Amino acid sequence: MASSVKVAVRVRPFNNRETNRGAKCVIQMQDKSTCIINPKQPKDTPKSFTFDYSYWSHSTAEDPCFASQRQVYLDIGEEMLLHAFEGYNVCIFAYGQTGAGKSYTMMGKQEPEQQGIIPQLCEDLFKRTAENNDPDLSYSVELCEDLFKRTAENNDPDLSYSVEVSYMEIYCERVRDLLNPKCKGPLRVREHPIMGPYVEDLSKMAVTSYSDIADLMDCGNKARTVAATNMNETSSRSHAVFTILFTQRRHDQMTNLDTEKVSKISLVDLAGSERADSSGAKGMRLKEGANINKSLTTLGKVISALADMQSTKKRKSDFIPYRDSVLTWLLRENLGGNSRTAMIAALSPADINYEETLSTLRYADRAK
Ligand code: ADP
Repeated sequence: MASSVKVAVRVRPFNNRETNRGAKCVIQMQDKSTCIINPKQPKDTPKSFTFDYSYWSHSTAEDPCFASQRQVYLDIGEEMLLHAFEGYNVCIFAYGQTGAGKSYTMMGKQEPEQQGIIPQLCEDLFKRTAENNDPDLSYSVELCEDLFKRTAENNDPDLSYSVEVSYMEIYCERVRDLLNPKCKGPLRVREHPIMGPYVEDLSKMAVTSYSDIADLMDCGNKARTVAATNMNETSSRSHAVFTILFTQRRHDQMTNLDTEKVSKISLVDLAGSERADSSGAKGMRLKEGANINKSLTTLGKVISALADMQSTKKRKSDFIPYRDSVLTWLLRENLGGNSRTAMIAALSPADINYEETLSTLRYADRAK
């Protein structure tokens, strides 16, 4: 059985600061492999890693490793969405140093060709639910301009879908609701005997179209930025978790009963991995660094334990340290078990970021 964790790395183009300082590129990519050259020892053999995808950005579109936002979505987002239609829980997360391209990959920008995985996946979800009403059919990827027209063409009265979204931020092991700006304090994390870990009182919004989701995403992103500014910090110190609860309901005419297939899709923009190093930090910064470190290391441990479990075919009950951080605890149902996970590690191409980039590559390598 193939590994349940898909791992991709993506290098961003040079930014202005790097270009102005004449930074050198330390990353090379070919097919699935990514090499990194130590700028202090350029003659040494580059360290090489192989991933499911190695994505290049800062050259011409003819480069075989070049990947547009669309391509990244088609390779990773679409595959995960199809798993959600099959009934799996799915999780996509972006890891890397601040400024390496996590938010660009997950959210992207307003322009249609610059949209990241989250908006493309949500849009695709509605296109597919509108177009396909039989789970036994394969899903088409045709573009649909008029969602409501297609919804009206729905010819299977026994199948219905419902979609709910939530958007939260985890900062220093505390959860904040990004869809309810009035809620000031942190929310409690609890455990349901059947449904597993959940956040008490977290807003869950029912949506019926992509534009509903787009509005909520906008509102959540603004809440995130405002809070970050007020607290004199950047959003790079918190994890943002966007969750879609997708329910497929089939009505059986004979028995008059409904059966439900529920999948939870979690899309996570992680805190900058450089914060994990709290050396030299004091007071709040030290606590912050230690907390980020805890979640990112625990996430790494959980993912590699799951990957090991797959390759050695150990049993499900083997110890996985989900409880060691709020992030992994809340993602428990989306990692391992009945779930499919993808990780995208964002990389800077510049020599000045060599150490961070190498550590990101190592983290990604352990997740395979
Ligand atoms: P992070 O979320 O990791 O802190 P960002 O996603 O904000 O980093 O990226 C930093 C900057 O680099 C942004 O201006 C973003 O638009 C740009 N950028 C990142 N990745 C890419 C890419 N693959 N192609 C083009 N621009 C990118």
